[in-house]
Amino acid sequence: MADEKKKPTYKFNKSKTKTPMREQPPEERIKNFNEVPLGFTCEEATAEGQRCIQCKKRPCIAGCPVGVDIPAFMNLVGEGLYEEALRKVKEKNFLPAICGRVCPQEDQCELVCTMNKPEKNREPGGVGRVERFLGDYAMEHDLNILPSKEAATGKSVAIIGSGPAGLTAASDLIQKGHDVTVFEALHRPGGVLFYGIPEFRLPKKILIKEIDGLKDMGVKFIMNYPVGKAESLNSIRERFDAVFIGVGAGLPWFMGIPGENLNGVYSANEFLTRVNLMGGYQFPEKSDTPIKKIKKVAVIGGGNVAMDSARTAKRLDPDHVYLIYRRTKAELPARIEESHHAAEEFIDFQLLHAPIEIIGENGAVTGIKCQEMELGEPDDSGRRRPVPIEGAYKTWEVDTVVVAIGQGPNPILTADCPELDLNERRGTILVQDELTMRTNLENVWAGGDIVTGGATVILAMGAGRNAATSIHSYLMSESGVTAR
Ligand code: FAD
Ligand code: SF4
Repeated sequence: MADEKKKPTYKFNKSKTKTPMREQPPEERIKNFNEVPLGFTCEEATAEGQRCIQCKKRPCIAGCPVGVDIPAFMNLVGEGLYEEALRKVKEKNFLPAICGRVCPQEDQCELVCTMNKPEKNREPGGVGRVERFLGDYAMEHDLNILPSKEAATGKSVAIIGSGPAGLTAASDLIQKGHDVTVFEALHRPGGVLFYGIPEFRLPKKILIKEIDGLKDMGVKFIMNYPVGKAESLNSIRERFDAVFIGVGAGLPWFMGIPGENLNGVYSANEFLTRVNLMGGYQFPEKSDTPIKKIKKVAVIGGGNVAMDSARTAKRLDPDHVYLIYRRTKAELPARIEESHHAAEEFIDFQLLHAPIEIIGENGAVTGIKCQEMELGEPDDSGRRRPVPIEGAYKTWEVDTVVVAIGQGPNPILTADCPELDLNERRGTILVQDELTMRTNLENVWAGGDIVTGGATVILAMGAGRNAATSIHSYLMSESGVTAR
């Protein structure tokens, strides 16, 4: 339930447009991995907080998958009460600096904002920008605002996977007094936030700081521990009272065209992991992981992962980066902000083209051949279907191809536990319903991309929260206590 509304003491800011955020200019930023948008000053954040008209219906709250009381924090920021505003956000979202940066607010809280009237040239409240400011304010002022913890219940929960779904479940369950241990296959926690989303969009120090908050609350992290290999799911089920699976969808898809085995072809996952997680862009001075010196690269796909790959490639100082997508700009699944930034950074969008062959010589990539496409009737997704134009092909000379056409669940954990019900076609874990996120196995819940397939950070967080609520009820009813 949202808090009672507090009447603002300030005059509303009548600006129709969001308070702009300063950015590194494109010519400069393609030469470094520093963050692109530079964040708000206190004055800018206050001005944006004062744009929220504190409307009666407050649809933005329902538009947020974790139900943050947006008008309350916008009002507090409008009053200049940043620490109080941060406390308000943290009641529901312990990752504001991250969500403020990567959440698709334009499809969620900001989309439904009462002020959002494109026909009147009026923009919604800049919720994401203000949320990001609050997360950054906490870092700059070393504010370690931790939610309160209830008395220890004596119950233990294992969380498998440390992406946003697992971290949210861990945060909610530790607050309820349970003993929480996170098992992670990689050597750093954070999931895609660490190994996928590049430094120039989400600086790692922010993620580390927000995860440190969880450690301070008592969450234990066991790293380099791929469940299904290091230990079976069933063994973990025996050791813990409840288990949450949030292992994401990290298995890359390929196109199934000739030439995909050539040297110089990467999945976006491998490419981004080499650069982001292993610091390949600092090889050999600061990192042991090399990344091939690239001259001309083709990135295949049109989502956030493709934009991140293309923009990352651009920062490795190549001669040219193509982004090849089979539909048009209007159908690009990436956030508008991401495709806009990519275009500003001189990424060469080759739309309405579908790769049909990667060409090679002596085992290495030398080019990519594409079929030219046009748009036909809408398909099941509602987007117009790309249709090949007979006899029309184009070939580009490239030495590197990054395939970013999507990813599915990695079967390491699920293959080791055949009694866990899966969606046969997609390999995702089946849950009874989205409110409880319970699987068919007693004491096992699941959520995030491993259930939905590739989705968003905030949806994974929402799933982690729902699962945590259900796990808490289960643990308390087991001990004869009614869950609060
Ligand atoms: P993940 O973040 O994938 O985390 C799963 C974790 O589980 C990983 O750390 C993995 O190593 C670990 N794991 C896997 N198997 C095991 C095992 N057997 N044992 C132990 N641990 C295991 N979403 C947005 O909202 N905005 C964006 O801008 C955005 N950009 C993206 C950019 C890229 C490059 C990618 C790949 C995705 C992006 N997404 C974005 C999607 C978003 O990151 C995911 O939807 C979200 O991270 C899913 O969270 P999760 O917790 O389910 O899984
Ligand atoms: Fe403010 Fe928009 Fe939310 Fe209304 S919908 S409370 S105007 S942010």
